[in-house]
Amino acid sequence: MLADISARFRLEIEKGLSRESNAAATVKMLPTHVYSTPDGSEKGEFLALDLGGSKFKVLQVKVSENGKRSVQMESDTFPIPEEIINGKGSELFDHVAESLKSFLQKHNINQKRKPLGFTFSFPCAQSKIDEGVLLSWSKTFKARGVQGTNVVQSLRKAINKVGGVDVDVLAMVNDTVGAMMTCGYDDHNCEVGVIIGTGTNACYMEELRHIDLVEGDEGRMCINTEWGAFGDDGVLDDFITNFDREIDAASVNPGKQLFEKMISGMYMGELVRLILLKMAKKGLLFNGQVTDDLRTKGKFQTNYICLIEQSKDGLENTSNILKQLGLHPSDDDCIAVQHVCTIVSFRSANLVAAALAAILTRIRENRKLKTLKTTVGVDGTVYRTHPQYPKRLHKVVRHLVPDCHVRFVLSESGSAKGAAMVTAVAQRLASQRQE
Ligand code: BGC
Ligand code: MG
Repeated sequence: MLADISARFRLEIEKGLSRESNAAATVKMLPTHVYSTPDGSEKGEFLALDLGGSKFKVLQVKVSENGKRSVQMESDTFPIPEEIINGKGSELFDHVAESLKSFLQKHNINQKRKPLGFTFSFPCAQSKIDEGVLLSWSKTFKARGVQGTNVVQSLRKAINKVGGVDVDVLAMVNDTVGAMMTCGYDDHNCEVGVIIGTGTNACYMEELRHIDLVEGDEGRMCINTEWGAFGDDGVLDDFITNFDREIDAASVNPGKQLFEKMISGMYMGELVRLILLKMAKKGLLFNGQVTDDLRTKGKFQTNYICLIEQSKDGLENTSNILKQLGLHPSDDDCIAVQHVCTIVSFRSANLVAAALAAILTRIRENRKLKTLKTTVGVDGTVYRTHPQYPKRLHKVVRHLVPDCHVRFVLSESGSAKGAAMVTAVAQRLASQRQE
């Protein structure tokens, strides 16, 4: 079954890369204009913005300050009010620019003009590194008037408007690219980036000769797969359950990001809630008791799954969580609920493994290798906080692609650090052009 899903994803990769089929492809395979992973020569001080994950962050990243390969960071998190996420796009970018300004003031960063890298975790069409046209919002975001426009330009405009912020927006990257670059700074074998957080996605280094939409045949370019959209054209219909349909129907983007909705943190808790609700209604759980909380969207948070699947305290956590939801669980109820959580989180890891296996096989075949040795940089709240998730994912991947020796590296704060790496390269290229 997973091998079958993996094979279907292989076809999506080809469809997205080829000139003839790209327009109709659901998995967009977006060129990122990142041509290489870091080579260790990156250095300097950079600012980074990280928008679109579980938190909006502003960071200062110092790469290789003292000749040693090292990265230092300072970062602040800024909440984005609900009304801005659902409001006008220009207000979203004003908020981003104002947050940047208070970060600079707080940390006393006012010396010379600073290069800035922007991690923007949504599908964007890029014709160069400092441009990105938003194709569609995903996850919780839906600010008006941004889709179809260049977000780098909007950011620059907002920064100019707020005033007193002397920065150069040099690069825009997807969070998967950030994760890959961060990890690639320490490990030159890292050529894949994966996010399993609020949303899910992956990028990898593809041969330029296979990327029809970009000129040139020599070398490689990182491709942002946008695998979250896998299945939007119906190719996964035989795996999609009624619970998945229900989640989709109640989401801000029905019919979109179906693969993501079966996997990522934004939906996992809700999937569990819908299953528990149905079981309770059928009298299979809680003696048939159904509470208001159990009926309410969002009341079963994804991080409950992490607590419930804890190996030592799991059952006790389960009981406490269910009581908080107004239920009176028996011991058997708690065990059953634990099972439901495992089924949902394991399915998520299995699906990621299937798609990732397709990417790894693709890289191996691209290079005509019998066995591939490679590293995958991974980040995202689900991967970072679920007690069993990484283990399970690694095991299934190794089982699916025994001919790939895969190292998994947690890319801590990867999305933003990686943006600084890309910015360093962009800055070097820009100064070479000026000379
Ligand atoms: C977005 C991707 C992003 C992923 C993880 C998805 O919803 O479409 O661009 O990489 O979430 O943040
Ligand atoms: Mg080409």
